Amino acid sequence: MSKSYLMNTYGRFDVTFEKGEGTKLYDKEGNEYLDFVSGVAVNCLGHCNPVIVNTIKEQSSKLMHISNYYWNENAMKLTEILCKNSDFDKVFMCNSGTEAIEAGLKLARKYGSIHGGEEKKEIIYMENSFHGRTMGALSVTGQPKYQESFRPLIGDVKSVKFNDQEDIKIKISKNTAAVIVEPIQGEGGIIPAKKEYLKLLRELCDENGAVLIFDEVQCGMGRTGKLFAYEKFGVVPDIVCIAKALGGGFPIGAMVAKENVAASFVPGDHGNTYGGNPLACAVATSVLGELIDKKIIEVNVNEKSGYLFDKLKKLKEKYHIISDVRGMGLLVGVEIKSDIKKIINTCFENKLLLITAGANVIRFLPPLNVSFEEIDKALSIFEKAL
Ligand SMILES: *Cc1c(COP(=O)(O)O)cnc(C)c1O
Repeated sequence: MSKSYLMNTYGRFDVTFEKGEGTKLYDKEGNEYLDFVSGVAVNCLGHCNPVIVNTIKEQSSKLMHISNYYWNENAMKLTEILCKNSDFDKVFMCNSGTEAIEAGLKLARKYGSIHGGEEKKEIIYMENSFHGRTMGALSVTGQPKYQESFRPLIGDVKSVKFNDQEDIKIKISKNTAAVIVEPIQGEGGIIPAKKEYLKLLRELCDENGAVLIFDEVQCGMGRTGKLFAYEKFGVVPDIVCIAKALGGGFPIGAMVAKENVAASFVPGDHGNTYGGNPLACAVATSVLGELIDKKIIEVNVNEKSGYLFDKLKKLKEKYHIISDVRGMGLLVGVEIKSDIKKIINTCFENKLLLITAGANVIRFLPPLNVSFEEIDKALSIFEKAL
């Protein structure tokens, strides 16, 4: 099989996976790997969870796709679950995280133009953030390395220092349409926002008539120990963007909003072909059913999180190259003072998958239904690599 036809957009590990089951992946030679990447926070129920597999089997033989010019009950059901389990009223369905961000940015600008006039277009974003690769999401991603070759980006955007109260106070104004922030910066190195900072953003947005957008694409859908990350911080934004774990491995995204903001969109303002299709919505509905009704978030995430953090903190005491262990729930970053690539590659050779977050952080993102034994096994491989 040739590797030469896939466009060269990723530095890939030298492995070709063929199948997966729970937290385990198998390559073509039948080697077993322990997966603490979960497709980057996607496979929240592990690989090929039977509930997801059965939903795909059943729904794909009934109806996979229809146009958004018609109604389908699966989309109604999923959006109702999302709203009834949150502080929001309306959902726009799409297929990925970056699409959810684009939808959020467009809704915020439309809301701004209705309520503040033509000048109210500015979007404020955080340094060190990550919101996706399309031109709009990229324009508010505060890491120059992602942006450099793709200018000009969209106009009327401005960055502020993350977690810095003074900077946002100076920069926000009546012309600000939106402030976008990850409650926990993911790609930037698993850096949680301070509670007081998010509270201040809420206050400043209210004072200036700006929309507060939380990007929960990575930290949402149970990863922190609550369905939505904002619940952990006690600050309710106007818009939340979700994707990744929402489909448990099936592509889907959503932009969830308060009624008063959502009302700015009217037919024709925004759309897409696949968003809200019956197959993706059926899968996400069964994922949420498992996460919420089977108490995977409430019980498993919180119990395993405590266990994983305890053990990692003990490793920090023992190995001085670990400078920090941080995060929330099962979104965990281990900051390292030496070469992280070498540690990750050694883990890989010993059949444990881990990835980086930023320059010097190793990310632990096991499935949300991970077991104690799997955590023990992962940590023994990790310790050996240390
Ligand atoms: C992954 C990610 C995105 C982009 O999502 P895609 O599905 O890759 O488009 C946006 N924001 C955050 C915080 C992410 O982690």
